[in-house]
Amino acid sequence: MGRTVLKSNLIDLLAYPPPFSCWLALCSDPDATTFDTWQVLHQLIWADLRLPFGDSFFIANRNLQWSNQVSLTEHPEILTAHPHDTMHTWGDYIFSGSYRFTRADAEEGLQRLQGLGVVPRVWTDHSNFSGNLLHRASTQATPFTMDRSGHQYVNELYTLDLIRAAGVRYVWDGTLQKHVVGQDRHVTAWQWYEGRYRARNRLAMVLLDRVTRPFDKLRNQEIFSYSPAGNAQYYPHQFPDGSRLYCFPRFGSWGSGDIDGLGSLLAPAQVERLIRSQGTAVVYTHLGKRHVSRRDAATHVPEATIQALRNLAEKHHAGAVQISPTAELLDYLVLRDHIRIDGTTLHFEPDAIRFPDLAPRDLEGHSFGLRLRSRDITVMCRGTRVRTVDVEPMGDVHRLRIH
Ligand SMILES: [Zn+2]
Repeated sequence: MGRTVLKSNLIDLLAYPPPFSCWLALCSDPDATTFDTWQVLHQLIWADLRLPFGDSFFIANRNLQWSNQVSLTEHPEILTAHPHDTMHTWGDYIFSGSYRFTRADAEEGLQRLQGLGVVPRVWTDHSNFSGNLLHRASTQATPFTMDRSGHQYVNELYTLDLIRAAGVRYVWDGTLQKHVVGQDRHVTAWQWYEGRYRARNRLAMVLLDRVTRPFDKLRNQEIFSYSPAGNAQYYPHQFPDGSRLYCFPRFGSWGSGDIDGLGSLLAPAQVERLIRSQGTAVVYTHLGKRHVSRRDAATHVPEATIQALRNLAEKHHAGAVQISPTAELLDYLVLRDHIRIDGTTLHFEPDAIRFPDLAPRDLEGHSFGLRLRSRDITVMCRGTRVRTVDVEPMGDVHRLRIH
């Protein structure tokens, strides 16, 4: 049971804590969510089905065309109803009439977050918002800009320092992965180009990719999109102001990013593919948005989506699919990927971006999967012995739980 990501003489580290062999997070943007639909979604997903997804929020809503979208300004109580780990930028400043977003809005937003005690670890860009970081970004994330004559200007749209101060460490990279089910695992060029090309063209593409690989810098990256590390669920990225954060892709497609499309993204056959892949999926959607064809329908969530969510909840509660907020999944991956094994000792090491000052409390609540060939195991965190661990046999593997 379980894919191995790190092998040593006495201990193997598994990709995910048993009994789970894959991990799914929902990364929904709050566009179009009214308080009424928010209540319907909360009741179905978090209360009835007990799906431990994370959610996202707008801090403020200045959108005149979706003027009744839920935001923290009017409804801060949404934060305590179920987990919210994602800020969908500083608020909705699209279609805001004559109102123009500036850094002052972000400063106010940061104060509001701090006043509410919320620390969002994830940032997702919104539509063509002027303060976006990567997706349709209109300005570089630098505090100053310069014109061709050398004059320097304050960049009123620069807020990356405030985004980091809010606690964000993971930024959606603006891409959607729709062809490969299961990130966080190596895929071959043949697997990568599946879905992008039909069978005969795919073979030609794989061969062409291989032959031209030595000239990678000269190739069109949109066409030759395969790289051996290209299916990672997160990766470090340096922004123009020098900030280093992690970026991550989401799984889905632009056309299926609403409550109707979610039914097909999470259909039982798709969930089976994820289980077989032994990988991860950070699913892209807008829970509060309907397809326009159902704009006036009496119910917000279509039957097919309810059935898909119900099936997913069964798979999760049966131990087949791990589910968590996006930040928890990404935190887990960062911690896992910085484990070092030495004999019978598991060393948790800091990374430079999320856990530069790693301490045992950062490990609390996390579980890891191990295959043990020794009865002893010691857990160390930056040189400090961690004693609050349970090692529990589960079939032929063990689950290490830190509390
Ligand atoms: Zn959005």
